Amino acid sequence: MRRIWGCVCLVGLSLTALALGPVRDEAVDLGVLSRIRDEGFNRSKVMDTASYLCDVIGPRLTGSPAYRKAHEWTKDQLSAWGLKEARMEAWDFGRGWTLEHASVHMTQPTPAPLLAVPLGWSAGTKGAVRGKAMKVKLESEQDLANYRGKLTGMILLTGEAPTLKVHERVEYDRYSEEELEELSQYRIEPSRGAPGSPGVNFREEYARRRQFTEALNKFLSEEKPLALVAAGGNDGGNVRLIRGPQRAGESSPVPHLVMAAEHYTRIARLLDRKIEVELELDLRVKLTDQEEKGYNTIADIPGTDLKDEVVLLGGHLDSWHPGTGATDDASGVSVVMEAVRILNALEIKPRRTIRVGLWGGEEQGFLGSRAYVTQHLATRAEPTDPEERKQPEFMRRERGELQLKPEYSKFSVYFNLDNGTGKIRGIYLQGNAAVQPIFEAWLKPVADLGASTTTLRNTSGTDHIPFDSVGLPGFQFIQDSVEYMSRTHHTNMDVFDRLQREDLMQASVIMAWFAYNAAMRDDLVPRKPMPPQNPERRPPSE
Ligand SMILES: [Zn+2]
Repeated sequence: MRRIWGCVCLVGLSLTALALGPVRDEAVDLGVLSRIRDEGFNRSKVMDTASYLCDVIGPRLTGSPAYRKAHEWTKDQLSAWGLKEARMEAWDFGRGWTLEHASVHMTQPTPAPLLAVPLGWSAGTKGAVRGKAMKVKLESEQDLANYRGKLTGMILLTGEAPTLKVHERVEYDRYSEEELEELSQYRIEPSRGAPGSPGVNFREEYARRRQFTEALNKFLSEEKPLALVAAGGNDGGNVRLIRGPQRAGESSPVPHLVMAAEHYTRIARLLDRKIEVELELDLRVKLTDQEEKGYNTIADIPGTDLKDEVVLLGGHLDSWHPGTGATDDASGVSVVMEAVRILNALEIKPRRTIRVGLWGGEEQGFLGSRAYVTQHLATRAEPTDPEERKQPEFMRRERGELQLKPEYSKFSVYFNLDNGTGKIRGIYLQGNAAVQPIFEAWLKPVADLGASTTTLRNTSGTDHIPFDSVGLPGFQFIQDSVEYMSRTHHTNMDVFDRLQREDLMQASVIMAWFAYNAAMRDDLVPRKPMPPQNPERRPPSE
């Protein structure tokens, strides 16, 4: 067993209040790394885990029976691998919705099967129903007034037909060395929310859209069109969900479908030629009568001398429903489960407790990870300004004061994986300069696996955000996109076949290695300075 020593940058540490104190070299245990690599590359179960989630359990929309089954199965599986206190922690969600059947056909002018998927929480139809297709633009109150009384029984094509172009380049993407170098350079973000900044308009635009959505839903319940149809975000038979007028956990007034672009454009061209188009829809959905619980699957590898302190790894177990949620985010869940399976198989006795958190409700706004933060770590007081209180949390300019729970001071770090199947190329530091030399020391001996980049840039859009927003270290890794944006993200083709075995094995090894290092180092992972209006926390070396 050999230890190597990473370089610690004094300048980086002195920049943050909480990193003050004794400066140490960051030691890493290469003997343990060899064992992690051996277990992760030679006896991997990551694809088996992912296949069970995708193929056997299937899509896992929050609040659906399959979603609950996924939490139960992961809890049981983690227990079977020897993790301790595997449990499901519940939080309030809303009504559950499951898609049971969707069949969409053109019946006039010529018959044709059509590829279309209802949005989550869409209404169903009462058996097979037929209606005439009609192009509409429902984007303003004036549009609604113009169409009043004209839409009953119609199937509405909303939005312009997309222009489809030939795919000139390969839609498979990995970071080049130049792109990673560029990513490592800091970029000052445009300001949001300060007076005179673009953020003010963004907020007004959000309020305007919210108001319009309410008006649109009221209009649709009165007008009773048979359905709304939008073009899916991709082409090539790839149907990507779009944002609909209904909110998760609440039913929509009429069925709302997303259709494959090529089928949508054909109908649009027929209508442009003034040829009548009749469609037949048969949509069976199940909306539960009662409010469902959301869950987080939690399980631990108990720590030893620092067992009250927690290193947390996570991904989200919920998915959208058109595919089987393979790259979003069975991949992250399988990697996190594999990382703790590896560490447990090696009978590692970590100093801190290594905990798995498999979240629900990520797709509806990080609901599970937020619930974990609220239940265990910190809550925020409501803003004092009544206008601010009306805003959703992410739009508020005034953030309420943090109220810390006892576990807050014992929390070390959260590592998240939720950017598809692509292997880990490095890590976003969320502006936390003090962690850079530490993570660089951990990445150095896995550089041969392609992971070596750190960037102080922020990334957003997934479950590290609730931790970061209460001042705790929460990080998402930099991952190769592979086919995430071109093919799988929120589409009907987000399925097991798109998962890349070598990428997921690499990510599992790096996740296990990061968890091990965070659990073994003397101090907690350094935190960013808290915003001044919020209470101070203890320094990491306390
Ligand atoms: Zn997603």
